[in-house]
Amino acid sequence: MKYCTVPVTHYQQNCSIIWCENSAKAAVIDPGGDVDQIRRKLTELDLTLEKILLTHGHLDHVGGTAAMKRESEVPVIGPHRADSFWIDALDAQAQMMGFEPVAAFTPDQWLEHGDTVQVGEQTLEVLHCPGHTPGHVVFYHAASQQAFVGDVLFQGSIGRTDFPMGDHEQLLNSIRHTLFPLGDEVRFVPGHGPESDFGAERKHNPFVADHRFG
Ligand SMILES: [Zn+2]
Ligand SMILES: [Zn+2]
Repeated sequence: MKYCTVPVTHYQQNCSIIWCENSAKAAVIDPGGDVDQIRRKLTELDLTLEKILLTHGHLDHVGGTAAMKRESEVPVIGPHRADSFWIDALDAQAQMMGFEPVAAFTPDQWLEHGDTVQVGEQTLEVLHCPGHTPGHVVFYHAASQQAFVGDVLFQGSIGRTDFPMGDHEQLLNSIRHTLFPLGDEVRFVPGHGPESDFGAERKHNPFVADHRFG
């Protein structure tokens, strides 16, 4: 599996294009906006879009979903059903975040912890990681030890939990007990900012480093 990241919207959200090299089939994770830019990248790489994957319901991650789906007629998969209230509130989110209004959508499939998602011949595992939002999921490609973690974890930081249904303790648990056991070598693309690996965060991240938990 290969991937590249296209930062979208004024939140510079890391939209990831992931693809199977054998089949040239691709998925877009979190098309938050700037759909033309994502589309151009897919064309440039000569990929066939197979599905749209969503980590959680925040507008900077899902804002371009309806437009992409309309153009390419691919299924929208994820996040976990507990984020449906965010997806139902796209208008309110647009007002709050200073976005142009975006078209509504309903995912074709909600995801559960332990589900798998196919992209061409590649398999991604689904990990339910609530805390930033209640229905946040992480996509993990075990074969290349690569995770796409949305707004759960960042290099040197963690997701905000001051939104409705946010939960700081739950977020710490998701990171320390669901993500970190995957292994120190696992690299991740966060929803914003630079990439990192779990080992580095276990050492240096002021919110979730091992030494904080004795
Ligand atoms: Zn978010
Ligand atoms: Zn975000």
